[in-house]
Amino acid sequence: LISREHHPDRSTVHVGGVPIGPDTVTLIAGPCAVETHEQTLAAAHMAQAAGATVLRGGAYKPRTSPYAFQGLGEAGLKILADVREETGLPIVTEVVSADDVDTVAAYADMLQVGTRNMQNFPLLQAVGRAGKPVMLKRGMSATIEEWLMAAEYIAQRGNLDIVLCERGIRTFEKATRNTLDIAAVPVAQRLSHLPVIIDPSHSGGRRDLVLPLTKAAIAVGADGVIVDVHPHPETALCDGPQALITSDLPELAEAVGTLTEVT
Ligand code: PEP
Repeated sequence: LISREHHPDRSTVHVGGVPIGPDTVTLIAGPCAVETHEQTLAAAHMAQAAGATVLRGGAYKPRTSPYAFQGLGEAGLKILADVREETGLPIVTEVVSADDVDTVAAYADMLQVGTRNMQNFPLLQAVGRAGKPVMLKRGMSATIEEWLMAAEYIAQRGNLDIVLCERGIRTFEKATRNTLDIAAVPVAQRLSHLPVIIDPSHSGGRRDLVLPLTKAAIAVGADGVIVDVHPHPETALCDGPQALITSDLPELAEAVGTLTEVT
Protein backbone atom coordinates (compact mmCIF):
# COMPACT_ATOMS: atom_id res chain seq x y z
CA LEU A 1 0.00 0.00 0.00
CA ILE A 2 2.85 2.41 0.67
CA SER A 3 5.10 1.14 -2.11
CA ARG A 4 6.00 3.48 -4.94
CA GLU A 5 5.76 0.56 -7.33
CA HIS A 6 1.99 0.69 -7.03
CA HIS A 7 1.76 4.46 -6.47
CA PRO A 8 4.44 6.21 -8.55
CA ASP A 9 3.55 9.78 -7.49
CA ARG A 10 4.82 10.91 -4.11
CA SER A 11 2.06 11.71 -1.61
CA THR A 12 1.30 14.80 0.41
CA VAL A 13 -0.13 14.40 3.91
CA HIS A 14 -2.21 17.26 5.36
CA VAL A 15 -1.97 17.99 9.07
CA GLY A 16 -4.69 20.40 10.14
CA GLY A 17 -4.50 21.81 6.61
CA VAL A 18 -0.67 22.05 6.54
CA PRO A 19 0.89 20.04 3.70
CA ILE A 20 3.85 17.71 4.26
CA GLY A 21 5.10 16.36 0.98
CA PRO A 22 7.28 16.80 -2.08
CA ASP A 23 6.40 20.40 -2.95
CA THR A 24 7.48 21.98 0.30
CA VAL A 25 9.76 21.71 3.34
CA THR A 26 7.58 21.69 6.45
CA LEU A 27 9.04 22.82 9.74
CA ILE A 28 7.57 21.19 12.83
CA ALA A 29 8.92 22.58 16.10
CA GLY A 30 8.12 22.76 19.77
CA PRO A 31 9.18 21.44 23.14
CA CYS A 32 10.26 17.86 23.62
CA ALA A 33 7.77 17.62 26.49
CA VAL A 34 4.79 19.72 27.46
CA GLU A 35 5.59 21.02 30.96
CA THR A 36 3.32 24.03 31.54
CA HIS A 37 0.99 26.20 29.49
CA GLU A 38 3.44 29.11 29.70
CA GLN A 39 6.40 27.00 28.51
CA THR A 40 4.42 25.41 25.65
CA LEU A 41 3.07 28.76 24.45
CA ALA A 42 6.54 30.33 24.58
CA ALA A 43 7.96 27.39 22.61
CA ALA A 44 5.11 27.69 20.09
CA HIS A 45 5.94 31.35 19.57
CA MET A 46 9.60 30.38 19.05
CA ALA A 47 8.45 27.76 16.53
CA GLN A 48 6.36 30.32 14.66
CA ALA A 49 9.24 32.79 14.67
CA ALA A 50 11.28 30.22 12.75
CA GLY A 51 8.44 29.65 10.29
CA ALA A 52 7.12 26.41 11.76
CA THR A 53 3.60 25.53 10.68
CA VAL A 54 3.07 22.55 13.01
CA LEU A 55 3.70 22.39 16.77
CA ARG A 56 5.29 19.35 18.39
CA GLY A 57 5.14 18.48 22.11
CA GLY A 58 5.03 15.27 24.10
CA ALA A 59 2.34 14.67 26.72
CA TYR A 60 3.06 10.94 27.03
CA LYS A 61 6.84 10.54 27.19
CA PRO A 62 8.52 7.17 26.56
CA ARG A 63 11.50 7.62 28.89
CA THR A 64 14.38 5.21 29.24
CA SER A 65 14.31 5.58 33.03
CA PRO A 66 11.08 5.00 34.94
CA TYR A 67 12.26 7.72 37.34
CA ALA A 68 12.43 10.39 34.60
CA PHE A 69 9.54 12.79 33.89
CA GLN A 70 6.87 10.71 32.15
CA GLY A 71 4.81 13.60 30.75
CA LEU A 72 1.59 15.25 31.87
CA GLY A 73 -0.72 12.81 30.08
CA GLU A 74 -4.15 14.18 29.23
CA ALA A 75 -3.43 17.44 31.07
CA GLY A 76 -0.60 17.94 28.57
CA LEU A 77 -2.95 17.29 25.66
CA LYS A 78 -5.28 19.99 26.99
CA ILE A 79 -2.39 22.45 27.11
CA LEU A 80 -1.51 21.59 23.51
CA ALA A 81 -5.11 22.12 22.43
CA ASP A 82 -5.19 25.51 24.19
CA VAL A 83 -1.94 26.55 22.52
CA ARG A 84 -3.31 25.47 19.15
CA GLU A 85 -6.28 27.75 19.83
CA GLU A 86 -3.95 30.63 20.71
CA THR A 87 -1.47 30.23 17.85
CA GLY A 88 -3.38 28.44 15.10
CA LEU A 89 -0.66 25.77 14.90
CA PRO A 90 -1.87 22.18 14.43
CA ILE A 91 -0.28 19.73 16.85
CA VAL A 92 1.60 16.47 16.63
CA THR A 93 2.02 14.49 19.82
CA GLU A 94 3.13 10.99 20.72
CA VAL A 95 0.90 8.10 21.70
CA VAL A 96 2.71 5.28 23.49
CA SER A 97 -0.07 2.77 24.06
CA ALA A 98 -2.94 1.39 22.01
CA ASP A 99 -5.19 2.08 25.02
CA ASP A 100 -4.52 5.83 24.73
CA VAL A 101 -5.09 6.23 20.99
CA ASP A 102 -8.68 7.48 21.25
CA THR A 103 -7.76 10.00 23.94
CA VAL A 104 -4.75 11.35 22.04
CA ALA A 105 -6.65 11.39 18.74
CA ALA A 106 -9.37 13.53 20.36
CA TYR A 107 -6.81 16.34 20.78
CA ALA A 108 -4.06 15.83 18.20
CA ASP A 109 -3.93 16.76 14.53
CA MET A 110 -1.26 14.09 13.94
CA LEU A 111 -0.37 11.09 16.07
CA GLN A 112 3.30 10.32 16.64
CA VAL A 113 4.58 6.77 17.04
CA GLY A 114 8.05 6.95 18.55
CA THR A 115 11.18 4.98 17.87
CA ARG A 116 10.60 2.60 20.78
CA ASN A 117 7.17 1.64 19.49
CA MET A 118 7.87 1.29 15.79
CA GLN A 119 7.13 -2.42 15.95
CA ASN A 120 4.35 -2.24 18.53
CA PHE A 121 1.91 -3.85 16.12
CA PRO A 122 -1.29 -3.38 18.18
CA LEU A 123 -0.40 0.33 18.50
CA LEU A 124 0.24 0.60 14.74
CA GLN A 125 -3.11 -1.02 14.03
CA ALA A 126 -4.87 1.27 16.51
CA VAL A 127 -3.41 4.45 14.99
CA GLY A 128 -4.29 3.04 11.57
CA ARG A 129 -7.93 3.09 12.62
CA ALA A 130 -7.88 6.45 14.42
CA GLY A 131 -8.70 8.65 11.44
CA LYS A 132 -5.77 11.01 12.01
CA PRO A 133 -2.45 11.38 10.14
CA VAL A 134 0.43 9.46 11.73
CA MET A 135 4.10 10.33 12.01
CA LEU A 136 6.02 7.07 12.24
CA LYS A 137 9.54 7.34 13.59
CA ARG A 138 12.11 4.80 12.54
CA GLY A 139 13.02 2.31 15.24
CA MET A 140 16.51 3.02 16.51
CA SER A 141 17.60 -0.49 15.50
CA ALA A 142 15.27 -1.00 12.55
CA THR A 143 16.24 -1.45 8.94
CA ILE A 144 14.51 0.70 6.36
CA GLU A 145 12.55 -2.34 5.23
CA GLU A 146 11.29 -2.98 8.78
CA TRP A 147 10.32 0.69 9.07
CA LEU A 148 8.35 0.53 5.82
CA MET A 149 6.65 -2.69 6.91
CA ALA A 150 5.62 -0.96 10.14
CA ALA A 151 4.05 1.79 8.00
CA GLU A 152 2.30 -0.93 6.03
CA TYR A 153 0.59 -2.08 9.27
CA ILE A 154 -0.93 1.40 9.60
CA ALA A 155 -1.86 1.59 5.94
CA GLN A 156 -3.47 -1.85 6.08
CA ARG A 157 -5.99 -0.49 8.60
CA GLY A 158 -7.10 2.09 6.05
CA ASN A 159 -4.85 5.04 6.88
CA LEU A 160 -2.47 6.22 4.17
CA ASP A 161 -1.80 9.59 5.80
CA ILE A 162 1.60 8.53 7.12
CA VAL A 163 4.74 10.64 7.44
CA LEU A 164 7.99 8.72 7.90
CA CYS A 165 10.56 10.26 10.26
CA GLU A 166 14.23 9.28 10.33
CA ARG A 167 15.50 10.03 13.86
CA GLY A 168 18.87 8.34 14.00
CA ILE A 169 19.88 4.76 14.54
CA ARG A 170 22.13 2.90 16.96
CA THR A 171 25.68 2.42 15.80
CA PHE A 172 29.03 1.95 17.54
CA GLU A 173 29.51 5.74 17.49
CA LYS A 174 29.20 7.41 20.88
CA ALA A 175 29.95 11.04 19.97
CA THR A 176 26.30 11.52 19.04
CA ARG A 177 23.23 10.14 20.79
CA ASN A 178 22.19 8.31 17.62
CA THR A 179 23.63 8.26 14.11
CA LEU A 180 21.45 10.18 11.66
CA ASP A 181 21.08 7.91 8.65
CA ILE A 182 20.85 10.63 6.05
CA ALA A 183 20.71 8.12 3.19
CA ALA A 184 17.46 6.80 4.64
CA VAL A 185 15.69 9.89 3.29
CA PRO A 186 16.23 9.29 -0.45
CA VAL A 187 16.09 5.51 0.00
CA ALA A 188 12.68 5.66 1.71
CA GLN A 189 11.46 8.21 -0.83
CA ARG A 190 12.38 5.89 -3.67
CA LEU A 191 10.78 2.83 -2.10
CA SER A 192 7.67 4.51 -0.74
CA HIS A 193 5.39 7.32 -1.87
CA LEU A 194 5.09 8.65 1.69
CA PRO A 195 6.70 11.95 2.80
CA VAL A 196 9.97 11.55 4.71
CA ILE A 197 11.13 14.03 7.34
CA ILE A 198 14.05 14.00 9.75
CA ASP A 199 14.49 14.74 13.44
CA PRO A 200 17.88 16.38 13.93
CA SER A 201 17.23 16.88 17.65
CA HIS A 202 16.76 13.28 18.77
CA SER A 203 19.39 11.98 16.35
CA GLY A 204 22.25 14.25 17.39
CA GLY A 205 21.06 14.77 20.96
CA ARG A 206 23.09 18.00 21.06
CA ARG A 207 22.04 21.59 20.32
CA ASP A 208 25.21 22.36 18.34
CA LEU A 209 24.43 19.55 15.86
CA VAL A 210 20.79 20.43 15.17
CA LEU A 211 21.42 23.15 12.58
CA PRO A 212 24.12 21.24 10.63
CA LEU A 213 21.91 18.12 10.56
CA THR A 214 18.91 20.21 9.48
CA LYS A 215 20.94 21.58 6.56
CA ALA A 216 22.01 18.06 5.64
CA ALA A 217 18.38 16.92 5.70
CA ILE A 218 17.28 19.75 3.43
CA ALA A 219 20.19 19.11 1.06
CA VAL A 220 19.25 15.45 0.71
CA GLY A 221 15.61 16.29 -0.07
CA ALA A 222 13.74 15.72 3.19
CA ASP A 223 10.12 16.84 3.08
CA GLY A 224 10.40 18.45 6.49
CA VAL A 225 12.17 18.56 9.82
CA ILE A 226 10.93 18.21 13.39
CA VAL A 227 12.98 20.22 15.85
CA ASP A 228 12.97 20.69 19.62
CA VAL A 229 12.86 24.30 20.84
CA HIS A 230 12.56 25.44 24.46
CA PRO A 231 12.42 28.88 26.09
CA HIS A 232 14.59 27.70 29.03
CA PRO A 233 16.43 24.49 28.10
CA GLU A 234 18.51 24.67 31.27
CA THR A 235 15.39 23.85 33.29
CA ALA A 236 13.69 21.56 30.74
CA LEU A 237 12.22 18.36 32.18
CA CYS A 238 13.21 16.40 29.07
CA ASP A 239 16.10 16.62 26.58
CA GLY A 240 17.10 20.23 27.32
CA PRO A 241 20.62 19.83 25.86
CA GLN A 242 19.23 19.30 22.35
CA ALA A 243 16.64 22.11 22.34
CA LEU A 244 17.29 25.16 20.16
CA ILE A 245 17.12 28.57 21.83
CA THR A 246 15.81 31.89 20.51
CA SER A 247 19.15 32.98 19.03
CA ASP A 248 19.23 29.80 16.89
CA LEU A 249 15.91 30.52 15.19
CA PRO A 250 17.04 32.77 12.30
CA GLU A 251 19.56 30.13 11.17
CA LEU A 252 16.90 27.42 11.45
CA ALA A 253 14.51 29.53 9.38
CA GLU A 254 17.20 30.15 6.79
CA ALA A 255 18.02 26.44 6.56
CA VAL A 256 14.42 25.42 5.93
CA GLY A 257 13.63 28.37 3.66
CA THR A 258 11.22 30.18 5.96
CA LEU A 259 13.53 33.10 6.79
CA THR A 260 11.21 35.73 5.34
CA GLU A 261 8.70 34.83 8.02
CA VAL A 262 11.10 35.64 10.86
CA THR A 263 10.08 38.89 12.51
C1 PEP B 1 10.16 12.56 20.69
O1 PEP B 1 10.12 12.99 19.53
O2 PEP B 1 9.68 13.17 21.64
C2 PEP B 1 10.83 11.28 20.94
C3 PEP B 1 10.80 10.69 22.14
O3 PEP B 1 11.47 10.81 19.88
P1 PEP B 1 12.08 9.35 19.57
O4 PEP B 1 10.92 8.43 19.59
O5 PEP B 1 12.67 9.55 18.21
O6 PEP B 1 13.10 9.08 20.62
